[in-house]
Amino acid sequence: MKELLDFLPEEYGLSPKYLNNELAKFVYQKYIDDFSDATSLSKALREQLKSEFNIMPLSLKIAQTSIDGSIKFLFSLHDNHTIESVLLPMKKERIENGIKKSAKYTICISSQVGCKSGCSFCLTGKSGLIRNLSTAEIVAQVLFIKKYAKIPYEQGINIVFMGMGEPLDNLKAVSKAVKIFSHNDTLAISPRRQTISTSGLAKQIEELGKMNLGVLLAISLHAVNDTLRDELMPINKAYNIESVLNAVRNFPIDARKRVLFEYLCLGGINDDLSHAKALVKLLHGIKAKINLIYFNPHEGSIYKRPSEEKVIAFRDYLQAHGQNATIRQSKGLDISAACGQLRNNEDENAKTSL
Ligand code: SF4
Repeated sequence: MKELLDFLPEEYGLSPKYLNNELAKFVYQKYIDDFSDATSLSKALREQLKSEFNIMPLSLKIAQTSIDGSIKFLFSLHDNHTIESVLLPMKKERIENGIKKSAKYTICISSQVGCKSGCSFCLTGKSGLIRNLSTAEIVAQVLFIKKYAKIPYEQGINIVFMGMGEPLDNLKAVSKAVKIFSHNDTLAISPRRQTISTSGLAKQIEELGKMNLGVLLAISLHAVNDTLRDELMPINKAYNIESVLNAVRNFPIDARKRVLFEYLCLGGINDDLSHAKALVKLLHGIKAKINLIYFNPHEGSIYKRPSEEKVIAFRDYLQAHGQNATIRQSKGLDISAACGQLRNNEDENAKTSL
């Protein structure tokens, strides 16, 4: 049995060709999960599709809603592995100057089960890489969440490949998912609304750049010198800061956009003004946006949450020195929203219930 979400509409192989687009619209825009509901297709074709394709490759295990409205999803895959995704409502529907503005959502998705990058502050990294997700498993996270949250098809959303896993370590499936998301007969999400976040695989950043997909790039930097970054992110030993920044300089990006640098503030480790100063120097000449993130401690974590004063002083220094810097509000703190936490809690529960 093939997974329909692995394919672009023109690859479904239906004849005449317009049936491919019709089927895609049923699945992605009317959210059907049974071919019987594709009512404008002939009965014989619906039967044929049922025997050839599966529509949804994952099932919901848990959905937890935070007091701030974000929803964290734990999905089961066909082999019983689990992955996480998060829906973050960014803005509610509102009236601005008498004009109705629609709500804004970001969906954060996973690209692997586990991850081999082994970042020392991350729960997902502790389990190592179990396997890559297929294109269908990546695409399904967005489709499932849009349907679950009753987000109308025409509602624009942002996608960030920032959940479990290193997206550039699964570049083939991720790049195909980007193309499927942006296809006019599926979800029609512009590549400029899709961000690929990487721990800094310089070689694959170059490869992604050559594909010219038009996606945005986010780099998890977290440290301003190689000694500290080696310690926090072992991947730095293969691709040091300089090689990552060189790859970023060559990355094709829309003139109105910036490369996002994620900087996780770890109390007493990387959060003082000498680090802010070094960061300004490092990013000189790059059109960057810096997101400062409070570390959200998990059980057994060796790092602490930084103080608010320090993070604010860090941001103010960056801004005073010409950088576009913001502090990212931690959404979903009450539902273990840091990468890998829901999955980890669930594993612990499973262990204690054995
Ligand atoms: S932070 Fe991201 S890249 Fe690093 S181990 Fe966790 S999932 Fe992998």
